[in-house]
Amino acid sequence: MDTVFPVPPAILLPVLGTSAAFPVRRVYCVGRNYAEHAREMGADPDREPPFFFGKPQDAVVPGGGDIAYPPATSNLHHEVELVVALSKGGRDIPIQQTLEGVFGYAVGIDLTRRDLQTKAKEKGQPWETAKGFDHSGPVSPLTPVSAIGHPEKGAIWLSVNGCEKQRGDLSSMIWSVSEVIAQLSGFVTLAPGDLIFTGTPAGVGPLVRGDQVHCGIEGLAELDIRIN
Ligand code: MN
Repeated sequence: MDTVFPVPPAILLPVLGTSAAFPVRRVYCVGRNYAEHAREMGADPDREPPFFFGKPQDAVVPGGGDIAYPPATSNLHHEVELVVALSKGGRDIPIQQTLEGVFGYAVGIDLTRRDLQTKAKEKGQPWETAKGFDHSGPVSPLTPVSAIGHPEKGAIWLSVNGCEKQRGDLSSMIWSVSEVIAQLSGFVTLAPGDLIFTGTPAGVGPLVRGDQVHCGIEGLAELDIRIN
């Protein structure tokens, strides 16, 4: 059927070791999945279970690169995160079967308008404008499970202009990748193409125009962005 305007382009993530790309469907994010980060945000990691929010599909910036400083904020923050890419979905996925649906892993940055998020928290309002804005989800090329397996530990880090700001270890995640997938599949039907940002370690902080951000996770492709 003809469309009244051109169908929006697919969001495609490159996959290391192949010319085939990974088409993105939905983008889910986990809040407060590292105890030290929960504490730095003024929350108690022992009493507050993680929760989910989302970004629009086209917030994903495959491979990073230049990103415009977003409007309506004066406190844009970086949050480096392990990103899980699914090639199989389902509902109420049993925890033992969760990893069968994982195609690969990447490093992503959950860019956040911290000032808007703080206001939203105070007023009990939704986080969309704080989390789901244009270009708010740069993601590195995917490393397939066939090449890396399922990383349960390893350094996760981010630097700004050569100065390290965040460093943690995947083993410090409060909820594992399996647990995140199992829980999320109790709320929504997951499907091939879904990405899950799994939360950030401590050290989040502001970015300004001109900043060069470099980040990575042991064993995965690295990610660079520049704020313009
Ligand atoms: Mn985050």
